[in-house]
Amino acid sequence: MGRLFVVTLEGKIYSCKHCKTHLALYEDIVSKSFRCRHGKAYLFNNVANVTVGEKEERAMMTGLHIVADIFCVGCGSIVGWKYEIAHETDQKYKEGKSVLERFKISGPDGSNYWIGHETYVGGSDADDV
Ligand SMILES: [Zn+2]
Repeated sequence: MGRLFVVTLEGKIYSCKHCKTHLALYEDIVSKSFRCRHGKAYLFNNVANVTVGEKEERAMMTGLHIVADIFCVGCGSIVGWKYEIAHETDQKYKEGKSVLERFKISGPDGSNYWIGHETYVGGSDADDV
């Protein structure tokens, strides 16, 4: 495997919990109201430093979508998924956007969101719980 170029983001950064690779910016959040199997997930306009896996058709609560898993280039762990095609008209806004699973990433203030552990409460992270 060749050496991958890692982009450094500036600002309020969400990074990989495992290897601290920068993945997305706070201002690129479209929605914080997404959910994955493990809890909260955020929809981002743009994500950086990820590789996109195989496209597959997946039935979600909002209908059928063509999605692809996305992986951190730093450590190869799965961090979320990308919407390639949404079949429902009212879900079309998601196309080309990516979801990061909250528990896989560290927030701008270094906060982590742990599943099955004590959740960090307080601080500056304006989560809509
Ligand atoms: Zn990583």
